[in-house]
Amino acid sequence: MKANRVIGALLGAALLFFAVGAYLSNEPASKTDQGRIMIIVAFVFGFLMVISNATAGSKAAKSIPASPVQPVCPTCKKPIQADYQVCPYCATTLQRHCPSCHKEVGPDFKVCPYCGTNLPNA
Ligand SMILES: [Zn+2]
Ligand SMILES: [Zn+2]
Repeated sequence: MKANRVIGALLGAALLFFAVGAYLSNEPASKTDQGRIMIIVAFVFGFLMVISNATAGSKAAKSIPASPVQPVCPTCKKPIQADYQVCPYCATTLQRHCPSCHKEVGPDFKVCPYCGTNLPNA
């Protein structure tokens, strides 16, 4: 993608130089109506190619995809999977589930708030 943009920008610049060079030259062909239209078309097309490729490149450079939020262990700060229930590095309990109703409960809850079951100590 990047190489394509550079080539596009270079082609556009070449068209610009061609148009300006043809305009400045004393070739009789560049003094006819058709020659002038060709020069204007080459100039505009080259200009658009340079602009579009230059802005596309800068846009791509600016929009660096934000890294997804990586959950970390609250104790050892190591990266963990969101569905881990216990940290594999330091054995911290990350999520607890009620053994009776299987809903998620807080790590320091003593009783399940959903069904009232006594929870085993962490
Ligand atoms: Zn940990
Ligand atoms: Zn429960």
